[in-house]
Amino acid sequence: MFTKRIKLFNLLGFPIYIDLSWFIIVVLITWSLATNVFPGFYEGLSSGTYWWMGLAGALGLFVSILAHELGHSVVARHYEVPMRGITLFIFGGVAEMSREPPSAKAEFFVAIAGPIVSVAIAVVCYATFFLGEAAFATPIVGVLWYLGVINAVVVAFNMIPAFPLDGGRVLRSVLWHVNGSLRWATRITSSIGSGFGIMLILLGVFSFIGGNFIGGMWQFLIGMFLRGAAQMSYQQVLIRRALEGEFVERFMRADVVTVPPSTTVHQLVEDYIYKHHHKMFPVTENGRLLGCVTTREVQQVPRGEWDQRTVGEIMQQCADENTIRRDADAMQALSSMNRNGASRLMVVRDGQLEGILSLKDMLKFISLKVEVEEGDSGFAQASLVRGE
Ligand SMILES: [Zn+2]
Repeated sequence: MFTKRIKLFNLLGFPIYIDLSWFIIVVLITWSLATNVFPGFYEGLSSGTYWWMGLAGALGLFVSILAHELGHSVVARHYEVPMRGITLFIFGGVAEMSREPPSAKAEFFVAIAGPIVSVAIAVVCYATFFLGEAAFATPIVGVLWYLGVINAVVVAFNMIPAFPLDGGRVLRSVLWHVNGSLRWATRITSSIGSGFGIMLILLGVFSFIGGNFIGGMWQFLIGMFLRGAAQMSYQQVLIRRALEGEFVERFMRADVVTVPPSTTVHQLVEDYIYKHHHKMFPVTENGRLLGCVTTREVQQVPRGEWDQRTVGEIMQQCADENTIRRDADAMQALSSMNRNGASRLMVVRDGQLEGILSLKDMLKFISLKVEVEEGDSGFAQASLVRGE
């Protein structure tokens, strides 16, 4: 979802990040306000003033969005949902939750908190604009007017009941409360989310054909983003349910192909990687685990040196990224794989290799469990499978 994030600071205990894509939207909004919106509504100012107003409007919008996300985050923390932080990016902001809210009630209040903050900002800006129109200089009045309007637009868009938009979350909490099933509620609301995404994509295509290039492209991109997010959220719920109460032990394989450290890189490629089709192999000597070697390390070695260099020289040490304990939570193992782009983890105890955990095995299990217990065979593995 993000390209590259920079951490700005902590606010109320939440880390605040800015994604590089955010700068694109700041420039676009500043430009459109300075050349189009403000000159249209407030005639007769200098072009420098319009640019300052544009920049103030764009930054004001992002302060508003940050406040909106802080609204979600503070309420989520109240319900003890662990928060990863807030990121401002090309489509606005996200407050990332590490797991789903514990109850329908919690979900409702977490979801509604953001729009309530935006309504408050809209009211304050609009009231100040209305009461101060005579007292303040025109540029200030113009920016206040814009912030009042745009925050109202943010609320209106976010309250569309298309998951994962706030309105979709509110609807999900209501359905969850009524029916008792988070899965069912997520399924309905993410279908609406996905449908709404497709609608925006089509709208974008028609706008583009009609000559509105930037607007059309924008609708298209937001549509793609929402559709992807809706589908992913539903799968996340299915995966979490399938892996609930499961431990690494269940998926671990004890028969592991290991590589001695004296193996040359050439031998590793021919006799292990191309033969067993894995990207990672544990390196052992006399039953002792030394580390592991992956295709990534092989890529670093120039082809001419494949016969001289050995696995012992290029291998990685055992670390949290490539190992897991057999009594660890399966969900924890999956997120570690996702984070580190690893398709296999070594199961280790006291420096001894006990077995290997592969993403493939876990996904097969999830897919079967979803099919058997939820009667849903539409679970797409593709979006999850990294590597292997
Ligand atoms: Zn929100």
